[in-house]
Amino acid sequence: MATNGARGYWQRYRSIPIVYRIGVAFVLGSLFGLVVGEPATQLQPVGDLFVQLLSMLIIPIIVFTLVMGARRLSPSNLGKLGGQVVILYAITSAFAVTIGLAVANLINPGSGLELGDAEAQTAEAPDIVEVILGIVPSNPIDAMASGDVLPTIFFVVVFGIALALVEQETDSDDIRNGVKAFYDLAEAGAEAMFKVVWGVMEYGVIGVFALMASVFGEAGVDAIVPFALLIATLALAVTAHIVIVHLGGIIALLVGESPRGFLVGGKDALITSLSIRSSSGTLPVTMTDADENLHIEEEVYSFSLPLGATINMDGTALYQGVAAIFAANLVGVQLGLAEQFTVVAVAVLASVGAAGVPGTGLIMLTLVLTQLGLPLEVVGFVAGVDPILDRLRTMTNISGDLAVTTLVAKWNDAVDFTSGTWVGESGETPAPADD
Ligand code: ASP
Repeated sequence: MATNGARGYWQRYRSIPIVYRIGVAFVLGSLFGLVVGEPATQLQPVGDLFVQLLSMLIIPIIVFTLVMGARRLSPSNLGKLGGQVVILYAITSAFAVTIGLAVANLINPGSGLELGDAEAQTAEAPDIVEVILGIVPSNPIDAMASGDVLPTIFFVVVFGIALALVEQETDSDDIRNGVKAFYDLAEAGAEAMFKVVWGVMEYGVIGVFALMASVFGEAGVDAIVPFALLIATLALAVTAHIVIVHLGGIIALLVGESPRGFLVGGKDALITSLSIRSSSGTLPVTMTDADENLHIEEEVYSFSLPLGATINMDGTALYQGVAAIFAANLVGVQLGLAEQFTVVAVAVLASVGAAGVPGTGLIMLTLVLTQLGLPLEVVGFVAGVDPILDRLRTMTNISGDLAVTTLVAKWNDAVDFTSGTWVGESGETPAPADD
């Protein structure tokens, strides 16, 4: 009886999505810290374990997921249209991180809150030439062993693309089978790592409680301000990115059409992404909007949107910039130009392997912080407010996918601007696509 009851509670507990449980732990941990005060800092090691578990996952995740991601980027898999899409995706993501960094530099979220004994591991700022040279590992195994994120990402992407080329060009069945075995291994490895991630997140409920208790135990109510500021900074930065890059730069300037028509056409996808926090989950709606409201031809969107849902993440990339400044402020270090460039490089390259599912941005943040030598503890802090941050990121991701798709469709004569929401239709009851 008792066991059944306990199991029932456990199952009910597990049926609540993990991010909400972590959100509750964030609030309860903060309250606990406020009420108990200084002694709550004793819980710090319980939170440190969460941080340690996250760090264990970084290199294996990069290796397994990026091999699969890079396969999609091989020139022979992309073709001309694909090349345009990928280059635009990369450029817009780079803009996104830059805007994230700029807005965060302006608002400085996180300043004023001291992070206990956590400290940045990099004291000296490297110069930009060093950072660029450092992207290429002189010894990839050494880079992996010492947890150097950027060179590891670089090597795995190059290796993954080479593997795809070998697969296409070889006449030998043995080699083709070998490549396939490699992909199977990477795919299985990635699946296994994500299982571990979810296991770690289960512990994260306890870990986040402990981290927040410790922060609020030490800093008191003052600690609320940085989190509110983090959310406000991200909201401002994603708005700036959507308005300046997607609506202004791409739709108004390069496409030469009305941003309003674009927004009305994509609104179902944008709203869906806000509520489900997943680009991949939103994909059917994004495709329907592209087809029935924006009147883009299937040959373009059927390729660019699924690809965008996995490799194009403007919001996620932008968030890395904001979160990096937040983390740096928490430990009282300034990120120099070279370090900010590193954030751009990691965010753009890592999005190749990142899936469009809830919480990906948090995992990516572990890579960015590790590369910068900033404390991973910050991931535990921001995890508590991630359900809010993730919505903003995902909506921006979708807006980016649709904007680039529209531009590529225009370049390839595959969109009809004389109908649909471009000419003021509401997009409420989409007319069947005329073909
Ligand atoms: N949830 C986002 C997406 O699906 C990824 C992220 O966590 O930033 O696009």
